[in-house]
Amino acid sequence: MALKPLDIFKYLPKTNCKECGFPTCLAFAMQVAMGKEDISKCTRISEESKKALASSAAPPIRTITVGRGSSKVNIGGETVLFRHEKTFYNPSAIGILIKESLPEEEIHRKIEMIGNIQYERVGLVLKPDIIAVEDEGKGKFSDIVNLAYNTGKSLMLMSKNIQTLKNVLPAVRDAKPILFSANEENFKEMVLLAKEFSSCLVVMAENLEKMACITAEIEKIGFQDIVLYPEVKNVSELLEHLVLIRNSAITGRIRELGYPVIAMPYMFTDDIIYESILGAMSIAKYASVVILSDIKGEMLFPLLLERLNIFTDPQRPLVTPEGLYEIGKPDGKSPLLITSNFSLTYFIVSGELENSKVSAFLGVQDTEGLSVLTAWAADKMNAETISALVKKLKVEEKISHRTLIIPGVLAQIVGELEDELPGWKIVLGPREASKIPAFLRGWDREAGSFKSE
Ligand code: SF4
Repeated sequence: MALKPLDIFKYLPKTNCKECGFPTCLAFAMQVAMGKEDISKCTRISEESKKALASSAAPPIRTITVGRGSSKVNIGGETVLFRHEKTFYNPSAIGILIKESLPEEEIHRKIEMIGNIQYERVGLVLKPDIIAVEDEGKGKFSDIVNLAYNTGKSLMLMSKNIQTLKNVLPAVRDAKPILFSANEENFKEMVLLAKEFSSCLVVMAENLEKMACITAEIEKIGFQDIVLYPEVKNVSELLEHLVLIRNSAITGRIRELGYPVIAMPYMFTDDIIYESILGAMSIAKYASVVILSDIKGEMLFPLLLERLNIFTDPQRPLVTPEGLYEIGKPDGKSPLLITSNFSLTYFIVSGELENSKVSAFLGVQDTEGLSVLTAWAADKMNAETISALVKKLKVEEKISHRTLIIPGVLAQIVGELEDELPGWKIVLGPREASKIPAFLRGWDREAGSFKSE
């Protein structure tokens, strides 16, 4: 839970020794509460206080890591009910179900597609995270699990038969699969299995009282990598349970429900469009894992996009790292443009550069996520910062000419920038990115400038 300055202050030595770089312990506590400093900067805090502080600061919903390697995802770890109160941290993992009873070709088609499908959006790669394999007693479970394992995706193994799970787990041990599921009858045996294979365990119960009792029992035997699955009868119960679980955990009313939650919208419909809508509802309303029955672009893409939007920090714009980007295959005679690191600006400009079919270098300045005009108005993008960027990026080693194209909205700084960068020709680009392709048609490679100049 997010701690207030006074909650942190009570653990500090209160000597005001200033060794942390702040004049008082309270000033330091305020910075820690705002997330700007780490508690380890206090040189005098005891190990005991550090531990106590860490446990008070732990999120009310446990963070659980599933999967391996680059497919690893964190689920849970949320601290607020509403995104605008702070931010949501760990995007809902999206999984696709593979039932054992599917025809052989369909199983292969789905697994191959899940392994390969991805979308690029504002520089981020959006893709599904988990393959959920359901045992239906057809004798193919182990083969399908192995196929799914080979995609490198995280796995969820769904079987009512504990022996079946025991048989397949050794071969996929390093994937740390999610085990589905434990109930009030089998939870002790399932916990032993989950512990042996470092897996997390889905706990299923038909009401929240029962669920809290089971998780309390599991906690007593020293296991906490739990995911909750409320067994509900209809869509309104699903929504109600998702909200109740989050609310109970965040407010601390039922601490035993402080775990990530899984939703399976396909349980309520055979219509994939309606299933997508329920998937969207589940992502918006607190499901940490959403399992879909099929992999179709028209259902997956909108959900991935919704997830991207909900799980970005509302207080921080999406940014592209500062640097020199190569668009196409630029060489020493290619044009050099400058823009800001607001992701949307970068992707519009780089997209138009690609459309122009003129390979170019694009220098991106860190403007703290502000667009060019806003950055200029806030004095974060000016002649001084651009000339510093040109030097920092060592562009002179990449290009033979000395022509720098700046955004059209920066007309006022051309003269100043020429003073800052002696020997450079500063050219004003278009005000709108859509005009870049036409603008670059005037680029003269041999002259390293524009034909009309
Ligand atoms: Fe207080 Fe620790 Fe900072 Fe010293 S180092 S002023 S004890 S917070």
